[in-house]
Amino acid sequence: MPHVEIIRVLLVEDNPADIRRLREYFSKVADVLFLIHDAVSIESAIQLVTDKFFDVILLDLTLPDSFGIETLRRMHNHAPDIPIIVLTGIADDTMALAAMRHGAQDYLIKGQLDINLLSRAIRYTIERKRAEAEIKKLAYYDALTGLPNRVLFSDRLKQAIVMAERDKKGLALLYLDLDRFKYINDTLGHAYGDRLLKISANRIQGCLRGSDTVARIGGDEFVVILPLLSGTEDVPKVAYKILETLRKPVQFENHTIYTSASIGIALYPKNGSTVDELLKNADISMYQAKETGRNNYQFFSEEMNEQALARQVIESSMRHAITQNEFFLVYQPLFDIASRTIIGFEALIRWRHPQHGDMLPPQFINVAEETGMIIPIGEWVLRTACRQARQWNQCRSDGLRISVNISACQFKHDSFIGIVQSALEESDLPAGCLELELSESTIMEQGDRNLLILTKLKEMGVSVAIDDFGTGYSFLSCLKHFPIDRVKIDGSFVQDITPGEDNEAIAEAIIVMAHSLKLNVVAEGVEHEKQYSFLHSRKCDELQGFLMSRPLPPEDILPLLLSYASPARQPD
Ligand code: C2E
Ligand code: MG
Ligand code: MG
Repeated sequence: MPHVEIIRVLLVEDNPADIRRLREYFSKVADVLFLIHDAVSIESAIQLVTDKFFDVILLDLTLPDSFGIETLRRMHNHAPDIPIIVLTGIADDTMALAAMRHGAQDYLIKGQLDINLLSRAIRYTIERKRAEAEIKKLAYYDALTGLPNRVLFSDRLKQAIVMAERDKKGLALLYLDLDRFKYINDTLGHAYGDRLLKISANRIQGCLRGSDTVARIGGDEFVVILPLLSGTEDVPKVAYKILETLRKPVQFENHTIYTSASIGIALYPKNGSTVDELLKNADISMYQAKETGRNNYQFFSEEMNEQALARQVIESSMRHAITQNEFFLVYQPLFDIASRTIIGFEALIRWRHPQHGDMLPPQFINVAEETGMIIPIGEWVLRTACRQARQWNQCRSDGLRISVNISACQFKHDSFIGIVQSALEESDLPAGCLELELSESTIMEQGDRNLLILTKLKEMGVSVAIDDFGTGYSFLSCLKHFPIDRVKIDGSFVQDITPGEDNEAIAEAIIVMAHSLKLNVVAEGVEHEKQYSFLHSRKCDELQGFLMSRPLPPEDILPLLLSYASPARQPD
């Protein structure tokens, strides 16, 4: 059986003779079956397009209830997605142009029609509209999730702002970012990442009303526009509902993936009156939600804005800080607790900022880690500290240790082992004098790969300490699987060592357990003799803290070393 195409036509025409002629033409086209509905007025045409589907509309502009371009405008408003071919009785170029400008696809003169012309015009028009729709889809929708993309989102938000202003109502913008998405994408692969994004898109959509918009505007970033009909009290409910649905584990074949999301919320008009302002402030709040431990939502506040601005200033000035020699290292001595002699130093970074003066690591390390700038900065720290340690070691025979803090992203970077090797070779420092300080989470994350790197360091002769021990979630028992040399009890457990307090019990427990695993223990942040005596009595091995010495510039270290050259042992 030959293939017969079906085309549904709405013929809007009030002249019975024209209707008859057109119907006759349609019936003579061989390979197309035209299903024709007539409407003799614009009102009945509008009624038909709201009830039925049509592939094309043939529209006479002169009707009993409407005339000229106005007819076209009304038709197009009610059926923006259906191609329209305008019919007129006379050849009129101005009218033809105006019709095209108001949304018509083509223009036909009734007196000059024939079967071929009509059939070709209709097919061409439908095809063109389809191509236009396809382009529009590519330009305005995200291919993976089918959600509006950033371009369409901006447009929708702009419209929503106009409506909110007109109706004296508010609106909320939710900026949502999946937690740990990059990690999932990197470990399980992009195919799983893509599936997770599609599922998340569906889940978010399931929490919303028809009048809300959700769009995907970046890798794992979604935005939701909530027009506020009454007050803002529904906003936290929606945010909570989204968080709850995204927290549900996702099952892929043999993997169960646990995700969550962080949401930042900006309100119109309180937190901004333009697309850019609202987006920026919702983004700042999302960032805050991440900082507050993820899996939560945060409303925007002015204070957040100030923090974000300060962060931006740090970020932009950090780019030149290495080449401008603005970073420098200070060194805090590490003492053997029994003899009170210096056995090494911890290198601590400082930044001499041209505007803000000397800055401490908590003021900038986070930014360096988030922007990836910690990689070159960390490399500089390692090379500088190794060179410095080599110099000091030349005047000591017992091999002073230099401890260098390493951020998780440095440790994870492919070039890490190579950089450590080259820093040692370049400085000629014996590997046994270098210790790397890693946080608990750095070590515990991605277990097998870390084990490989730690084993490699061990083979090289470099030692490893776990910094700020006790503040993470690791268990000492897990540590026996990793080749580790030392744990550093976090200063917070040392700070208020008073007999009978919890912190005292924790410090003591860490020492006992570490010793049973043959690990050395350093107490950080020792400020008082009382803390010293306690740690000494519990057989802690080493200490570091203001009691013995603050971090010092390198030029103060040599005199210090000389004064400790032949240490008088303190009585036990
Ligand atoms: P951390 O590795 O635990 O270093 C010890 C911090 O405690 C240092 O702070 C030190 O000045 C401070 N401290 C030492 N003794 C005492 C004391 O008796 N009382 C008190 N209250 N504090 C004491 P700093 O220099 O501000 O460094 C903070 C953190 O920044 C470091 O903690 C480390 O995690 C990070 N950091 C420092 N330098 C670097 C670096 O070069 N690279 C990386 N990735 N992180 C670094
Ligand atoms: Mg440290
Ligand atoms: Mg520490």
